[in-house]
Amino acid sequence: MALIVQKFGGTSVATPDKIKAVARRVLGYKQQGHQMVVVLSAMAGETNKLVDFANQMQEIPDQREMDVLLSSGEQVTVSLFAMAVKEAGFNAVSLLGDQVRILTDDLHTKARIKKVETETIRRALAEDKVVVVAGFQGVTETGEITTLGRGGSDTTAVALAAALEADQCEIFTDVDGVYTTDPNIYGKARKIKKISYDEMLELASLGAKVLDIRSVGLAKRYNVPVHVRSTFTDEEGTWVVKEDKSMESMLVSGVTYNKNEARITLSKVQDTPGIASRIFTPISDAGINVDMIIQNTRAGDLTDLTFTVPRSDFKRAMQIVEKIGSEIGAERVTGSDDIAKVSIVGVGMRNHSGVATTMFHTLAREGINILMISTSEIKISCIVEEKYTELAIRALHDAFALDQEPVEEEL
Ligand code: ADP
Ligand code: ASP
Ligand code: MG
Repeated sequence: MALIVQKFGGTSVATPDKIKAVARRVLGYKQQGHQMVVVLSAMAGETNKLVDFANQMQEIPDQREMDVLLSSGEQVTVSLFAMAVKEAGFNAVSLLGDQVRILTDDLHTKARIKKVETETIRRALAEDKVVVVAGFQGVTETGEITTLGRGGSDTTAVALAAALEADQCEIFTDVDGVYTTDPNIYGKARKIKKISYDEMLELASLGAKVLDIRSVGLAKRYNVPVHVRSTFTDEEGTWVVKEDKSMESMLVSGVTYNKNEARITLSKVQDTPGIASRIFTPISDAGINVDMIIQNTRAGDLTDLTFTVPRSDFKRAMQIVEKIGSEIGAERVTGSDDIAKVSIVGVGMRNHSGVATTMFHTLAREGINILMISTSEIKISCIVEEKYTELAIRALHDAFALDQEPVEEEL
């Protein structure tokens, strides 16, 4: 008998019938004698709908109220799921984040899990119940409802698996594993059988939303093997595990994109010490993560500063930057959110030169202008106009022959 944590994403629980189908699948495991903890997302599209409602109420929605609102999506699916299990003659209990006591900090809409209390879940399991936990939500020490950031149900699942010392942690979704690129964008994408935490961290951080980055970070920290697989088939998916010798050794292991970024430029800023800190401190105090930063020097003592922020924080960031811009005498503050970040990732890049050149060449051949570039040891990212995203992905996937099984290298 094993303790199994299974998470089902929005498309897996998009309708009452799909919820019933998932409940049947989970009960299959239950009937084999396993203890089942199920983490659910909101129905597909629900969270977006709620965000849209909030935007109709306030120019910049209040973050605390946003969490009270967004957490309601998961409340619907967990309660319906528990009903479906009971209807099938088994026992179940749905639990919200504050009932489990998934304790988080108070950074609303992107809270971090600090601790997961396991007592309530363990008691329910001992009573032979299927435990159904609302993903993506938690509670602060003072009882405020929080959410963990979009895609955060994956993180709930891994945090529960770690806290409960579960035997298995499975993430069920609408694709049957982690691919070399988003299989919904490019049919030639290839499924990766086994991937290291580090490589998955990099893919997730650059936009492969099949796993939420924080879930991968937690899995690595607590050494939880994660099995990513399809809700709709029985096929073996992708294992996200500690690095080992049997892993693919590819120069480039994946191509990712992220359309959730926006670009802000301050033009003609005084090029004096302390300016960057004047600009970026209030942004970081507002809990907004800046990603790429580029500074160009102009003639005289003037400089242009361009950086990217998550698109969901774009309006708030613009408001902050416009205020600072006028304080520091910048000539203009401009912003656009029709950009995308396209990246190639691979630990093999460390020891090879020429990967960047191939990337730039490939984009140029397709007539795609690169707006910003950033590199690290194991990734290269380019900001391009959003309309070129799919074209860039396909061209890069082909350029690095990612559809081919890697050839085993002689040691
Ligand atoms: P869920 O609602 O189950 O959490 P998500 O939509 O968050 O599902 O994540 C699954 C989606 O991730 C897939 O439908 C796919 O379009 C996308 N995706 C992006 N990059 C990848 C990748 N490298 N491998 C697999 N799926 C990917
Ligand atoms: N429902 C939330 C979202 O859409 C959390 C999740 O699905 O993981 O972002
Ligand atoms: Mg997801």
